[in-house]
Amino acid sequence: DFDRFKVVNDSLGHLIGDQLIIKISERVKKCIRSGDTLTRLGGDEFVVLMDDINNVEDSIRIAERIQKEISNSFKLAGQDVFITASIGITVNSHKSEKPEDLIRDADTAMYRAKSLGKARYEIFQEDMHQRAVHILNLEGDLRQAIEKKELYLNYQPIVSIKDGHLTGMEALIRWHHPQRGLVSPSDFIPLAEETGMILNIGEWVIRTALNQCKEWREAGYPQHLAINFSAKQFQYKGLINFLKETIQATKADALTLEIEITESVAMQDVDFSVQTLRELQKLGFQISIDDFGTGYSSLGCLQILPLNSLKIDRCFVQNLLDNQGNATITKTIIMMAHNLGFKVIAEGVETKEQLDFLRQNRCDEAQGFLICKPLPADEIFAFIKHHQNKLI
Ligand code: C2E
Ligand code: CA
Ligand code: CA
Repeated sequence: DFDRFKVVNDSLGHLIGDQLIIKISERVKKCIRSGDTLTRLGGDEFVVLMDDINNVEDSIRIAERIQKEISNSFKLAGQDVFITASIGITVNSHKSEKPEDLIRDADTAMYRAKSLGKARYEIFQEDMHQRAVHILNLEGDLRQAIEKKELYLNYQPIVSIKDGHLTGMEALIRWHHPQRGLVSPSDFIPLAEETGMILNIGEWVIRTALNQCKEWREAGYPQHLAINFSAKQFQYKGLINFLKETIQATKADALTLEIEITESVAMQDVDFSVQTLRELQKLGFQISIDDFGTGYSSLGCLQILPLNSLKIDRCFVQNLLDNQGNATITKTIIMMAHNLGFKVIAEGVETKEQLDFLRQNRCDEAQGFLICKPLPADEIFAFIKHHQNKLI
């Protein structure tokens, strides 16, 4: 499968795209032996079938030859067009596999090559198939998870480092799978993002969080709640309207909600981010940049984004005391954030020493296992009551 073929089609037109396909096939033909079969499955996807090869090295050699052959530019409409290929290889080692299974396995390996960065080849391995089946099953299950009430939110307290009082909480999603047990959001959120299911899940999170906020406020605990947004959610055109409707329907107060987006999401399209964040702030939401320090922020952009706080990623906090570099980065982030007028929250605080360091360097708030693990709503409510709001 050729990489970024769509770009050629979109920029130079389909006629040129067709010519490129023809030229590509001519070059690939040069790489194979006379008895081999070259076929185009559709679009920019080709299959090479090689009979009588002795080992996988033979097929690797062909794959490398194809990549080298197409690496020279193609002259089309007076322009030099460059293209690369992602190649999946499978060997019929049992001599008993069905043709369609072979194509499926080559396809799986090709997708693996794509996901590992394109312009490369991958050899099919049995665990790839198992992984593909696993993801497919997980995806099917996740589609029903909301309906089956398998999702719930955990809450983790965030405290003021200065006086130890609770300032808010972060809502963290959990999926209790009937067979697999607890599935980590790090495993299913990317899947939900890839398949678009994140929009439904995100809506469920927002609705649940707003209802929870309202319940806590009615019980006399005015809660400031942070929720996580993934890239697709943030870019979703209907986001603002959905939020307006949900605030009305739940009679909740947006003032108590904070939205966390990661640095890379915010920096993807800065003009879009500025506009969307402004609209969110107009609705009353606070905006926080999550996992700060792990992405690539342009300082100039950081200054024009309407933000309220930065969350220092836990990878810096966790090695604060035995890594001089991380200590320097943490100090610098705190100073810079304050100069730009943002609040700073440290994530993943696990030890008293880390907390002391953060206090000395005037970090505003902290969150982490030292204070409290993420817990279900009733448990967190009991925990806060027990500590009478003063958690450290
Ligand atoms: P995150 O937003 O950076 O959330 C913080 C993660 O750090 C959470 O992992 C939390 O349980 C963990 N954590 C908190 N304190 C400590 C600590 O002291 N030490 C260590 N080692 N870890 C700590 P979790 O709950 O597994 O969530 C993982 C990620 O999944 C989140 O990272 C967030 O990016 C995503 N996520 C969670 N809930 C949602 C959601 O509702 N929507 C979206 N879009 N993403 C979510
Ligand atoms: Ca977060
Ligand atoms: Ca984070």
